Amino acid sequence: MDYSLVTEVYERIEGTTKRLEMTDYLVEFFRRTPKEIIDKVVYLTQGKLYPDFMGIEMGVAEKLAIKAVAKASGRRESEIEEDLARTGDLGETAQKFLEKKKQLSFFKKPLTVERVYQTLDKIARVSGEGSIDLKVNLLAGLLADASPKDAKYIIRTVTGKLRLGIADMTVLDALAIAYGGGKGAREIIERAYNISSDLGKVAKAVAEGGIEAVKNFRISLGNPIRPMLAERLSSPAEILEKLGGKCIAEYKYDGERIQAHKSGDNVILFSRRLENITSQYPDAVELIRNHIKAREAIIEAECVAVNLDTGEMMPFQELMHRRRKYDIEKAASEYPVSLFAFDALYVDGRDLTLEPYPVRHEILEKIIEQNDRFQLAKYMIVDNTEDLERFFEEAVEAGCEGLVCKSLGGDAIYQAGARGWLWIKYKRDYKSEMTDTVDLVVVGAFHGRGKRAGTYGALLLAAYNHENDTFETICKCGSGFTDEDLQNLPKMLEPYRIGHRHPRVNSNLEANVWFLPKMVIEVIGAEITLSPIHTCARDLIRKGSGLAIRFPRFTGRYRTDKSAEDATRVDEIVEMYKRQLKKIEAE
Ligand code: ATP
Repeated sequence: MDYSLVTEVYERIEGTTKRLEMTDYLVEFFRRTPKEIIDKVVYLTQGKLYPDFMGIEMGVAEKLAIKAVAKASGRRESEIEEDLARTGDLGETAQKFLEKKKQLSFFKKPLTVERVYQTLDKIARVSGEGSIDLKVNLLAGLLADASPKDAKYIIRTVTGKLRLGIADMTVLDALAIAYGGGKGAREIIERAYNISSDLGKVAKAVAEGGIEAVKNFRISLGNPIRPMLAERLSSPAEILEKLGGKCIAEYKYDGERIQAHKSGDNVILFSRRLENITSQYPDAVELIRNHIKAREAIIEAECVAVNLDTGEMMPFQELMHRRRKYDIEKAASEYPVSLFAFDALYVDGRDLTLEPYPVRHEILEKIIEQNDRFQLAKYMIVDNTEDLERFFEEAVEAGCEGLVCKSLGGDAIYQAGARGWLWIKYKRDYKSEMTDTVDLVVVGAFHGRGKRAGTYGALLLAAYNHENDTFETICKCGSGFTDEDLQNLPKMLEPYRIGHRHPRVNSNLEANVWFLPKMVIEVIGAEITLSPIHTCARDLIRKGSGLAIRFPRFTGRYRTDKSAEDATRVDEIVEMYKRQLKKIEAE
C-alpha cells in the first residue's frame, strides 16, 4: 500500500474536529488497507509501532531528526534549525526543504507503508555504538525517497509529534463499521481490546476473521488487561445503599497498582498505565513466582514499601526510588515491597473476568500462599454504617488511603477498562500536616523481627489524661530510631518493665511487654486521625473512636526532663485535631 494513502487520511483527520467525520475517514481508510498490514496501520495512526505495553519507542530526538532532514535535503543543519525556530514544527520544515529539492530531481517510485514501517522499526531497535549515525542514515534514506508531504508526517511520527487525536474508542468504532458489520459490533470489539490492550491485534482479528473471530478472543499472558476502576462516594450510608446494603470493604493501600502475569517461572508486572515495570520490582517478582500456586495466573495487587522490622507501611513516596534504575537494588533491600492482592483475572486457562467478585476472591485466596509479605488486601464484609466507618478509620490509621468497597452481587464482574459502581472508593478528601511535635509516654513495646530481633520493633505510646490521671494510647511507633537507639532501648526501659498492663494505662492493644508509665519521648507524625483502636480521647469526637497519630516517628529526643505527667495531654491532642480540621475547612 502506498504511504501516500496514509498521509492523505492524516490530512483529512487533521482538517476536522468532528468525531463522526474522523470515524468516517478511518472506516474508508481501513477498508482500503490490506488485511495483512491492518495492525501496523492502526499503530501508525496512533503514532506508534507497537502497543504501549511493549515499551518500544521510536526514540528519535529532535537533534537527530534535524541531521536526517539536512542530509536528505542537502542543506546545512543550521539552515534547518533556523527554519524550525520559525515554524516550530520540524515536519513542516522538512516538507518545505524537500519540496525545494524535489523540484530538481527525478520522479521516484512511491514509498510503501511496509517500507516506512520496517524502517521506523529498525530505527527503534538499533542501539549501541554507532547507532546514532545508523539512525540518521536510515531516516535520511527514507526521507530522500518520500514525497515532501510524506516526509512531514514521517518526521512528526519519529519525533513523537504526530498528534492526530484519534482516541482508542474512535478506532474501535471505525473497526466495528469497517469489518464488524456495523456499530453494533463495537461492544464485542471493545471487550477484546479491554482484555488485550492491543488495538492492532484486535484490528487484525476482526479484519481477517470478522466478528466471530473477535468473539473468540481470549486473554493471553503478556497482554495486560485494562484496569477496572472505582467510582467515589463520601459517606458509608451512600456506599451501602449503592451496593445493596452489603459489601466487601477492603483497605485501599497507598502504593502502586500492579498487574502480575505469571507463566511458570516467568513473571511480568504491568503498572496501572500498563507499562511494563517488571525491572522496578525484582522483590515483587520473586513473591509472585514463589507464592502463587497456579502455573499460570494474572492477579492484581497493590505494591507497598513496608518496614519489615516493624511491619509499618511506608508512605507512597518511598516507592519513587524505584523509578531510578540505579536505586532499585538499594531500595529493594532497604524497603522491600509487600503485596496486597485484590483480584484474580485469569488462572490456569480460565478467564475469571466475567465471574462475580466473590468467586474471584475465593480463587485468589486459594492460589496465594500467604505470608508476611504477600497477603490478600485486608477485608471485612459489612452491612452497617458503623462497621464501615470503623474499618475506614482503622485503614487510615494503618497508613492506607481509605477503603475500596466492592459489590458482592452476582453481576459484579471485572469491568476491564471501565470506571463503574461495582467498586466504590471511600477516601478522605483532605490531607493535613501535623506541624507540632508531641511528647508521649512509653507504656508498652512489641518485639522486633528481622534486623530488630532481640530489641523492640515498636513502642506503644500514650498521652496523659489529667482529669482521670490515666495514660491513653495514641500510636505504635517504630520509625525514627537509630541503630544505637534500638540497641539501648531494652536496657533503658528495663527498670520500668512490669508483667502486666499498668492500671493507669488504658489500652485496647495487647503489648508484648508492659512498662510503668515513666519514659517520655518526642514524636512527630503526618497527622492526627480518628482511630477505632486507640483510647486517646475515646468517644470525645466520635462515639466508639479515639484519636491516633498517623505515620509517627521518633525525633531523636528523649525527654528526660519531663515526668510522665508532663507529657502532652489528651485535651491538647483534641485541640490539635480540631485545629487541623479548621485549617482544612478554611482552605
Ligand atoms: P486513586 O488516585 O484514588 O488511586 P485511581 O484513578 O488510580 O485513583 P481508582 O479506581 O479511583 O484509581 O481507585 C482504585 C485504586 O486504588 C486502584 O487503581 C489501586 O491502585 C488502588 N487500590 C488499593 N487497594 C485496593 C484494593 N483493595 N482494591 C482495589 N484497588 C485498590
